[in-house]
Amino acid sequence: MTVVRTLDTDTIERIAAGEVITRPANVVTELVENALDADATRISITVENGGLDRLQVSDDGHGMDEADAALAVERHTTSKIEDATDVDRVETLGFRGEALPSIATVARLELTTKTAGSVGGTRVTVEDEKTVEPAGRGVGTTVEVTELFSRLPARRASLGSPTQEFGHISRAVSRYALCHPDVRIRLIHDGNTVLSTPGTGRTDAILSVYDRSIAGQSTEFASEHETDAGVISVEGSLVYPAVTRSKPTHVYTAVNGRALSEATIRNATVAGYESLLASDRYPIAIVTVTLPPERVDVNVHPAKESVRFDDNEAVATAVEQAVSEALSGRDLSRRAEFSF
Ligand code: ADP
Ligand code: MG
Repeated sequence: MTVVRTLDTDTIERIAAGEVITRPANVVTELVENALDADATRISITVENGGLDRLQVSDDGHGMDEADAALAVERHTTSKIEDATDVDRVETLGFRGEALPSIATVARLELTTKTAGSVGGTRVTVEDEKTVEPAGRGVGTTVEVTELFSRLPARRASLGSPTQEFGHISRAVSRYALCHPDVRIRLIHDGNTVLSTPGTGRTDAILSVYDRSIAGQSTEFASEHETDAGVISVEGSLVYPAVTRSKPTHVYTAVNGRALSEATIRNATVAGYESLLASDRYPIAIVTVTLPPERVDVNVHPAKESVRFDDNEAVATAVEQAVSEALSGRDLSRRAEFSF
């Protein structure tokens, strides 16, 4: 005979945390999103051993006072939404109040933070217990995560090698660096600076993630499209089709500031290059879409890895048109011979 029972809170929390934080790269994404939501202009990410030993994200955002810092690591605490109607029009990257407590459930978490208005800072440590103490630092927030999945041996064993896990982190950070080119983003792995963007625009960000020849063969674009779904703005950078890749992973997409791999935008971008691409080749492109928040559901995936548009067709058409117009009339063949 089967018995249906209600799970205890600890178990429920662990299950939920396991859905939000599946690998080191999820920790990085959540912490970088928090930094961007805090209006950071500089974000520094330090990773050791693919994130398995240590992950740290430091920002110069607005920080938290002691009371907020102590509350922020608790479940379902957020400063970003107030009620259910806000879930339908999320303007921030976070909104569920789940990231910090989820990380603290599967790792040791230490958060140090200070606001402009407070004299000293605060350190909150969540290990077995939560401790809150004064700590010095400049305005901003640093979150350090160690012992990731140490109490979840099966999850730890299911991860890839440190190199593979770092690959996921590096891709996630590159995506944010390219989609938020006005923020200085630095990624350090085992003591080496792997990526560092100057925060001076898209072309410079491409130069940091790729190289001078690719950045030199790119064009920035921006356009607005009036649709039944409201105004959709599409902007980014397109690398000329003389440079292509065999996989579509170099098409970087973002929706309302959220850098994620979005198929509708990616496919429409490729379609916008039209016959400029051979059939099995893909471009390097950064395409960010901004639309009214009530037109996109961001509450689809526990790790917020996908979104749903209420009008896919409108988004696809806007992107394809924007890309196609940005490339038309350019002497792409001559550009292809440029080298720096
Ligand atoms: P969410 O981002 O969904 O609100 P989190 O658990 O990621 O949930 O964070 C909880 C709260 O902690 C946030 O709403 C925010 O107020 C605060 N917070 C988290 N990280 C930062 C940060 N880097 N700078 C300032 N405030 C932060
Ligand atoms: Mg968050």
